[in-house]
Amino acid sequence: MNLKRKSQVSLLALSILLSSLPVVGYTPHPIVPPTQAGAKTNETFKFGKVDLDLLEQVNLLDERFDKEGLVYHNGELEAYLERVGQTVVADKNIENVTWKFYALRDATPNAFALPNGSIYINTGLLALLDTEAQLAGVLAHEVTHVSHRHTYAQNRSMRKKVLAINILSTIGSWNPIGGGVGTAINLIANISPFILVLSIFGYSRELEKEADVEGLKNLTAAGYQPDEMVNTIKLLQKDIEGEQLNSFYNDHPKLQDRVNYLSNSLSTTANKMSDDQLKKAKAEYLAQMELADRQDVELAILDERFRTAVFVSQKLVDFHPDASANVYYLAESYRALGPRAPELTAKELTGGEKKKAAKNRRRRTLEEQEAELMKTTTGQAAWKTNQEKAEQLYLRALELNRFNYLVHRGLGMLYEKIGRKEEAISQYRKYIELAPLNAADMERFRRRLQTLRGVSPDDTSPTSPPQENY
Ligand SMILES: [Zn+2]
Repeated sequence: MNLKRKSQVSLLALSILLSSLPVVGYTPHPIVPPTQAGAKTNETFKFGKVDLDLLEQVNLLDERFDKEGLVYHNGELEAYLERVGQTVVADKNIENVTWKFYALRDATPNAFALPNGSIYINTGLLALLDTEAQLAGVLAHEVTHVSHRHTYAQNRSMRKKVLAINILSTIGSWNPIGGGVGTAINLIANISPFILVLSIFGYSRELEKEADVEGLKNLTAAGYQPDEMVNTIKLLQKDIEGEQLNSFYNDHPKLQDRVNYLSNSLSTTANKMSDDQLKKAKAEYLAQMELADRQDVELAILDERFRTAVFVSQKLVDFHPDASANVYYLAESYRALGPRAPELTAKELTGGEKKKAAKNRRRRTLEEQEAELMKTTTGQAAWKTNQEKAEQLYLRALELNRFNYLVHRGLGMLYEKIGRKEEAISQYRKYIELAPLNAADMERFRRRLQTLRGVSPDDTSPTSPPQENY
């Protein structure tokens, strides 16, 4: 229950984020030095005690993110984020701000800024974006929240503190996808719900608009073409999991409003990318993200964001169809989908159906939801298709790299679940034989193998399928 409740927070963050992300286009080389870029900082800001207290708290939060293993450490990706992020920083020298750009191991599509200059973007959002320009747009929006001291302003405002309480009470009535595995927002919620509200949920419509408009200026100044904005908003509107909560849009700029005011801010002479340039931009971005995206698929499956997992891993396979790891992750995603269709229908994406689905998730465990779906003919058909698809993909991944031992684990679990016991035994054997001796789940699969062979004395139900999906 606690976990569920916590991940409600992350979903709230998602729904708000989806309504507040900025967007832009792409050019490979900045044409204006970043220091000359657009936005002017709030130079009149004077730190008081209440501001310094907040600063101290967010500095601690940075440390906690890292200590809890939430920061995704990958030298190349870190350097990339730093490079792209710095291009949209208009003012490098702001009192009590050190610009830093981090990726978080978190499957919810989200980004946020702390007032000390730490900008966080989740792997779940990195995986959803298509180009560097879109990434730069997200970062430019967040940078503006920092450079314009939005968090401090919100913190000083009593009205917002009241709003914060309202938001937290609303969180309790919202039910998200997923069991809430270690997301960043959960951590902030545990440490300081107040900071969560301040830095993510609390900005007023005016401040969000300012972050969009100023962010767009800095992006353009940094040489990114801004005309991809509408595409990104469409991308964020996709709502793969059917979890957007309309009520939260009411407190934030509506997507169409954002399209309008951002379009008005665009120069009519802005160059557009040709189809070839766009294709190239997408390929370059994906090449940067490939490892992080694989990680994100794992996180998405753990967080029960199965449709997202399929979406992201399909993107990886389209990019590098011959990479065994990519095909393996797509197989994992289809296996995890169980009795669900890979995409929601138009009807399922209507407000009423989303509410119904949210209610269902609130009242039932994942196993109960799946059992219910398995009573329907569509659920059974989807299950069969997904398992077949997973099997084909596992076999293909093995063809591409016969040493990809993870495939044997996946196949073993698949066969065990569909009752092909002998094949499950053989796959688990191969997994144990090929996996590194220090693999964290080695012992678990040894025991599972023993159970399947009927030699484990301490298992009371040797024929029951494994409970966990992943
Ligand atoms: Zn914002």
